[in-house]
Amino acid sequence: MNKTAVVTGGAGFIGAHLCQRLLGSGYKVICMDNLITGSKDNLRDLIKNKKFIFINHNVSQYIKLAGKIDYVLHCASLASPEDYLRFPIQTLKAGSLGTHNSLGLAKEKKAAFMLFSTSEIYGDPLVHPQKENYWGNVNPVGVRGCYDESKRFAEALTMAYHRVHKIDTKIARIFNTYGPKMRSNDGRAIPNFINQALHGRPLTVYGKGEQTRSFCYIDDLVEGLYRLMLSPINEPVNLGNPREFTILQLARLVLQLTGSRSKIVFKALPQDDPRQRRPDISKARKALKWQPRVSLTEGLKKTIPWFKP
Ligand code: UDP
Repeated sequence: MNKTAVVTGGAGFIGAHLCQRLLGSGYKVICMDNLITGSKDNLRDLIKNKKFIFINHNVSQYIKLAGKIDYVLHCASLASPEDYLRFPIQTLKAGSLGTHNSLGLAKEKKAAFMLFSTSEIYGDPLVHPQKENYWGNVNPVGVRGCYDESKRFAEALTMAYHRVHKIDTKIARIFNTYGPKMRSNDGRAIPNFINQALHGRPLTVYGKGEQTRSFCYIDDLVEGLYRLMLSPINEPVNLGNPREFTILQLARLVLQLTGSRSKIVFKALPQDDPRQRRPDISKARKALKWQPRVSLTEGLKKTIPWFKP
């Protein structure tokens, strides 16, 4: 194996798992991150590998790298609603300028490119489950607009580079994913609930907890990403677990699996919080021969020890 992959956002939750997977398959990996939400702790096991290089760089700035590069995997972004509410401009820049710079690198190196897009491009979906041909229901000026619209722009830019510059581009639409290496202060439902349960604090369910999400375990997602990266598919592909749960069901499951006696408390529902979300993965099933294997219960059991104090 003599291939090199650049992973932007490689010190983040998904990025670090992907770097590990690529190294395991024999790739040389250049991990680029400005550590705004990523952490070098996630790379502790990788840094010893001679085929691994870490570069502290903000993808919103021009990217210059020497040598042959075969894949540019643009994963860098703030991804938790709490983070992108705190850093909306950085979020918009990572999705727009960051995608432009990463595509520019792919063009210069004649590399394949993959955009890490999101189920958020469907917004608060009026079609359920979500298929790739659904155009979405996004509030461009709402508080989540910085994330949703920058990713929608990123998809448009990726397709333009594919059509104009003939770059071999892929677009992964990633649905809610969880697992070890998530930050305990990440703010998303699974890290919040596990932490609250382990510390005996009340679990904060927003709204009535009737909104739904479909949670994919990280190993399943990384397998899907890897298959997509090697595939000839240039159109967007949903990657996620199609099993759907209400947030209240999730909170109860976390209580059960941690054996915690914490209570559940109800807090205000954040603005524009999507009411439902479930991927239709028939495209990935057919084209990538991929589907998630880890159930939510199994995945949570693997994730809970990561958060243990
Ligand atoms: N949520 C919740 N309590 C929390 C964190 C999140 O009830 O402490 C809800 C949130 O309102 C949303 C769902 O859980 O409906 C998933 O939120 P998350 O931030 O994990 O991801 P999203 O899918 O919204 O990007």
